[in-house]
Amino acid sequence: MKASAFAYTRATSVANALELLAAHGDRAKVLSGGQSLIPAMNLRLICPELIVDIGDLVDLRGVGVKGDILSIGALTRHVDLERSPEIAAHAPLLTEAIAHVAHPAIRNRGTLGGSLAQADPASELPACMLALNATMIARDQAGERRIAAADFFKGIYETALSAQELLVAVELPVARKNSGHFFHEFARRHGDYAIAGLAAQAVVEGDVFADLRLVYFAVGDRPMLAKAANTLVNVAVTPAVLSEASAVLSEELDPQADQEASAGMRRHLAKVLLARCASALLGRPDLNAGGTV
Ligand SMILES: Cc1cc2nc3c(=O)[nH]c(=O)nc-3n(C[C@H](O)[C@H](O)[C@H](O)COP(=O)(O)OP(=O)(O)OC[C@H]3O[C@@H](n4cnc5c(N)ncnc54)[C@H](O)[C@@H]3O)c2cc1C
Repeated sequence: MKASAFAYTRATSVANALELLAAHGDRAKVLSGGQSLIPAMNLRLICPELIVDIGDLVDLRGVGVKGDILSIGALTRHVDLERSPEIAAHAPLLTEAIAHVAHPAIRNRGTLGGSLAQADPASELPACMLALNATMIARDQAGERRIAAADFFKGIYETALSAQELLVAVELPVARKNSGHFFHEFARRHGDYAIAGLAAQAVVEGDVFADLRLVYFAVGDRPMLAKAANTLVNVAVTPAVLSEASAVLSEELDPQADQEASAGMRRHLAKVLLARCASALLGRPDLNAGGTV
């Protein structure tokens, strides 16, 4: 199938893009890497009247560190995230996760901003943003606003962005001393969207979690910051404690069934991920001895 007829314009500046979005509202769509938008248009899942191509807006591309903040432009491509020494040093969770996003051809075009604005619940990068406690920076003609990752993802393909807003950048606190991360997803094939996944960021002091953010993806309508993590912080993590955390996790999960997996399978995989994560971050193979809890 082909997309229905649409008009196309290449924005010459951020101000120009915002002017076009203000004038056309939800009849317009921003085009970044096109790796989600174009397939959706070709399937006629969406039929925008105007495409605003922001691909030339180099101001929105790049990675920088200022003090303890890592800043990433929305138009930074997946491949550049993957190769960035700043991201590897200050947000290694992201470096690890990006290798699971689709395939090299898609990572050469797809952008961070596109992935976050798309808000696919099975997507890796939204979960990482929540695990890393990111702030999204959105701009419209009236100015800029900062949105915590926890308030940004609203549901399946739904974010806090209005039709007049552009996501321009993301800010992340640089990784703290003693921090560690864990990323794993179950997918049918490498590069496919996940069936269930976990992105986690932790601070480990001695053999105890001083802080732990567990963010599950592909198990609900948006990335989920698991309260179960609280059960594991500032305590000696024994198999019994882990089992309690697993029970809390089971309570808060509400996975959906689809052609990839049943709700029960997703719930099971989430618990397997919990055990693997605690075991890996604490260097305790005994916590994952049974493979699940
Ligand atoms: C075969 C295939 C497999 C894939 N597998 C995965 C996968 O495993 N994991 C995964 O996460 N993704 C996957 N993707 C999606 C891919 O990562 C996309 O690159 C990404 O989701 C969207 O980025 P983009 O730059 O291409 O955005 P686009 O397609 O250009 O835009 C996506 C949406 O975001 C909006 N948008 C884009 N940029 C902005 C902005 N700056 N401000 C406001 N709105 C904006 C657009 O209007 C559109 O609605 C896959 C894609 C394909 C085709």
